[in-house]
Amino acid sequence: ALFLGYRMMKRKQKHTLSALDVMEAGNTESAVDLDDLKLLELIGRGRYGAVFRGSLGERCVAAKLFSVANWQNFVNECAIYRLPLLQLHDNISRFLTADERTAADGQPELLIVMELYPHGCLSQYLSVHTVDWLTCCRMCHGATRGLSFLHTELYRGDQYKPAVAHRDITSRNVLVRPDLSCVLADFGLSMRLTGHRACCPGDDDTVAISEVGTVRYMAPEVLGGALNLRDCESALKQVDVYALGLVYWESFRRCSDLFPGETVPEYQLAYQAELGNHPSFEEMQILVAREKYRPLFPDTWKENSPVLRSLKETMEDCWDQDAEARLTAQCAEERLAELTLLVTHTAIHNHRNLSHGRWTPQVG
Ligand code: ADP
Ligand code: MG
Ligand code: MG
Repeated sequence: ALFLGYRMMKRKQKHTLSALDVMEAGNTESAVDLDDLKLLELIGRGRYGAVFRGSLGERCVAAKLFSVANWQNFVNECAIYRLPLLQLHDNISRFLTADERTAADGQPELLIVMELYPHGCLSQYLSVHTVDWLTCCRMCHGATRGLSFLHTELYRGDQYKPAVAHRDITSRNVLVRPDLSCVLADFGLSMRLTGHRACCPGDDDTVAISEVGTVRYMAPEVLGGALNLRDCESALKQVDVYALGLVYWESFRRCSDLFPGETVPEYQLAYQAELGNHPSFEEMQILVAREKYRPLFPDTWKENSPVLRSLKETMEDCWDQDAEARLTAQCAEERLAELTLLVTHTAIHNHRNLSHGRWTPQVG
């Protein structure tokens, strides 16, 4: 009752979809015939699904297969993909169709067919490629824009898109397009925060609500069991933004322009240097919740140029220990846009200075 009251009191934010209005909400789903689906190669594996490169007639697609044990995750991901307006956004991965069917051997098969992103996830891409400043900003901006959209409650005509928390933001759940722009994917743990099927957690659901996601990316309040369930909507958005800050750290550590005259450090997952490849919940709890430890910035970033200062500040404002002090995804999106612009104006200048080992961008 507390949550309902709160939600009803809040003014509904109206949003316009100007950029999206040009695209029509054509339902592509009905046009897909799954009998033609061929699975060709395993390209990814998460906790819930195995993802294959496949073909559907002439078209290359990705097919995510779930085991029956993960039925709930499958149903949830489908429901999120089918929310009104979601598929119109440029930074949400393209869903084609989903099916629950019986394979020839009598085994049930749960599958989601989506657009194929040949570069795979952000983590895979960054582990083999470095990126220049603009590319890096654009990648992070895209992921942020996707999250910002997901978090937003939208009305357009009789269509309603609730605010949704992603709840599993990681560099493995951001996919990379051929032009290196990025989309948000993997909505298996996502949750509606507003509207008539919103989740209104009572105390009994507390554990289920809070302890999901990937341990490495869990916010301190989740690890410490101090998630503020009185304002579940804000709390779950803040958890997403914390993880987004870690994704920025992983990305910009691979930005060649930020290591002038040096070799760019090898790709690392957040906290990998400290806790290795399989951190336990308890280890993360001690490091992140109790010791308030965060990923370290490379020495090269100690220089206090305006660009580096803004960049570090943006990460710190995302992963703040105090959840309520964190940026909203909307603010983070603006920060990334500003960072991109800042250097667009000064790129040539910077490059000249970088080669002299100095970096003093002049804005405007
Ligand atoms: P899980 O819910 O099990 O984590 P994901 O949807 O995150 O499953 O997919 C697992 C991995 O498969 C991703 O991290 C990514 O590397 C790869 N992957 C997922 N979807 C696609 C896609 N459409 N195109 C290319 N690779 C994908
Ligand atoms: Mg995943
Ligand atoms: Mg998932």
